Amino acid sequence: MQNDVLEVLYSKQTIAAKVQELGTQIKQDYAGKNPLMIGVLKGAIIFMTDLIREIDDFVEVDFMDVSSYGDATVSSGEVKILKDLDTSVAGRDIIIVEDIVDSGRTLDYLIKLFETRAANSVAICALMDKPEGRIKNVRADYVGFSVPDAFVVGYGLDYAERYRNLPYIGILKPEIYEN
Ligand code: 5GP
Ligand code: MG
Ligand code: MG
Repeated sequence: MQNDVLEVLYSKQTIAAKVQELGTQIKQDYAGKNPLMIGVLKGAIIFMTDLIREIDDFVEVDFMDVSSYGDATVSSGEVKILKDLDTSVAGRDIIIVEDIVDSGRTLDYLIKLFETRAANSVAICALMDKPEGRIKNVRADYVGFSVPDAFVVGYGLDYAERYRNLPYIGILKPEIYEN
């Protein structure tokens, strides 16, 4: 598995330090608010579980699964809900937890959805941001790393459901997805 990685971008230690930083910031910003943290399946699972343990205050968690579909080359790509929340977002302070923001379509959809459902506030915490891929005008409030326009795997992120369990984040060798 490790042989399929071209280059390690962020080591286990580097990620842990960054996640601690993000957790500390969120704890400060949401003091006394009991935010509802919504993880976007499946890529955000590892980030989510580490992040909430760095927030030394009350938070609640829920998960949502969505998929983009339609022609990927067309900017009007639609998003479909595969698994909805168990919790009502009405009146809640929401923090969407994402692995990586690329085109911004997923987050654009989710922000609008939670606003329609009358959330009190909606913020985004993304471990990574790929600004070059942006199609929708979405800005994350909390960002771990700004990454180059390459396909990354590990720490929750997959290629064809593999590599999520790598403890670091790396660039996948192009020959893996060219085959
Ligand atoms: P978008 O912002 O385009 O709606 O979609 C973001 C989603 O696409 C992410 O949540 C992630 O699941 C997937 N994605 C985008 N870039 C990468 C990448 O470099 N590696 C992996 N594994 N997934 C990515
Ligand atoms: Mg994702
Ligand atoms: Mg994926």
